[in-house]
Amino acid sequence: MVSGAILQMKEEAKKMKLKPISVALHLDHGDSYELCVSAIKNGFSSVMIDASHLSYNENIKLTKKVVNFAHKYKVTVEGELGVLAGVEDDVSATEHIYTRPEEVEDFVKKTGVDSLAIAVGTSHGAYKFKPGQEAKIRLDILKAIEKRLKNFPIVLHGASSIPQEALEKINKYGGKMESAIGIDPKQVRAAAKTAVCKVNIDSDSRITMTASLREVLSQSPEIFDPRTYLAKVREDLMKMYMKKNVEVLGCGKKISK
Ligand SMILES: [Zn+2]
Repeated sequence: MVSGAILQMKEEAKKMKLKPISVALHLDHGDSYELCVSAIKNGFSSVMIDASHLSYNENIKLTKKVVNFAHKYKVTVEGELGVLAGVEDDVSATEHIYTRPEEVEDFVKKTGVDSLAIAVGTSHGAYKFKPGQEAKIRLDILKAIEKRLKNFPIVLHGASSIPQEALEKINKYGGKMESAIGIDPKQVRAAAKTAVCKVNIDSDSRITMTASLREVLSQSPEIFDPRTYLAKVREDLMKMYMKKNVEVLGCGKKISK
């Protein structure tokens, strides 16, 4: 079981005198009570129940059921109100349905969630917007929500910026990605200064990793050992995360709020 593996890793780290770091193992877009329960039983420290496609009352009912189970195991729960446009794995919607600020207090109170994902104009997946289209985070809605939920953790999904240099690199080295644009990092920076405390940027990770992999395999065709070419890929991914943490999310020491 995963939880057993985690305990074993903790023991190993202790033996090696490694400093403990805080890591959360989070289930993204859990779509059923059963899936969330399974993740919790297998050692996840945090789960998301995404019932945003259901009616308001059904969303409350399912989210509350997950919260009741999760909190028994001290596992935190992220809920979602409003619907994000875009496609990510099995999650897809054609239109934005912005979160209604007047519903958030009631939702949080009735469900007992620990954090709330909201829809304020971000979008899932790599092909969020076509060039020329304006990608806009509705800071006005975000601030109205923040006002109603004082000091409550807000989550932004679909906040990738789709780095153009990585996209160009993918196509330069044999890939076939259509042009796509993401959310301007300045807008994510502005959002990160509010109650937003978790920002999901999976598409940026996927694009950065693919670009790096295509480049290294193309430039060094003699390499066949995954340990060698993935080392370079990991390094590029790490650099991207470090840059984002400091410049966009404001988590580094260099940026003050
Ligand atoms: Zn998402």
